[in-house]
Amino acid sequence: MERATVIVAIDGPSGTGKSSTSKAVAAQLGLSYLDTGAQYRAITWWMVNNGIDIEDPSAIAAVAGKPEIVSGTDPSAPTITVDGTDVAGPIRTQEVTSKVSAVSAVPEVRARITELQRSIASGSENGIVVEGRDIGTTVLPDADLKIFLTASPEARAARRNNELKGADVHATREALLKRDAADSSRKASPLAKADDAVEVDTSDLTLQQVIECVVTLIEEKRAAK
Ligand code: C5P
Repeated sequence: MERATVIVAIDGPSGTGKSSTSKAVAAQLGLSYLDTGAQYRAITWWMVNNGIDIEDPSAIAAVAGKPEIVSGTDPSAPTITVDGTDVAGPIRTQEVTSKVSAVSAVPEVRARITELQRSIASGSENGIVVEGRDIGTTVLPDADLKIFLTASPEARAARRNNELKGADVHATREALLKRDAADSSRKASPLAKADDAVEVDTSDLTLQQVIECVVTLIEEKRAAK
């Protein structure tokens, strides 16, 4: 039987396991994968690299259309380039992480990146798992399945710390909560759970358990299509 195309939106704050879950689920089900946070990080990297004043939304808005951002959507080897330069490493620096919320709050940036995300999703052949903050609410409101991942601040900070290896857990927690507060309180398309999203609290679940839960939800949707 031909399998139905499926569009899955996975949203939630940082440290809830969005990326690891989305990549694994997409790989397991033969779907494409899009990391929308990487796109916002990439445009932020470009702004920093080009000396744009991050404190000045109008300066950011004026050049929001300039960088060409290309995302590779293979879940086993996702890629991200800006004007042909591989920025997968540079977009994860502390500097970019601390500036990305200010850049992603600018409506012109969101409009540009949202358009890119929609065109990638509509071009995916078998379907796609798109992870971010506003996918279910704004980017793909007609997604077949919307999932909102949550976790306690303690669980999230501990996970981030494992990734950062040796960072101070208190500082990580504070930085993470500050970024979430900025992402949730911005005017343009804030981090929010869509009314029709399934909420999964990952605090006490292993990554494998979260993956299994999401795979089951997708299989149920596919079977019903
Ligand atoms: O997921 P990640 O931590 O890489 O996201 C980096 C930042 O990109 C977020 O803190 C947020 O400011 C922005 N973002 C967004 N909308 C999305 C995905 C990410 O504003 N859909």
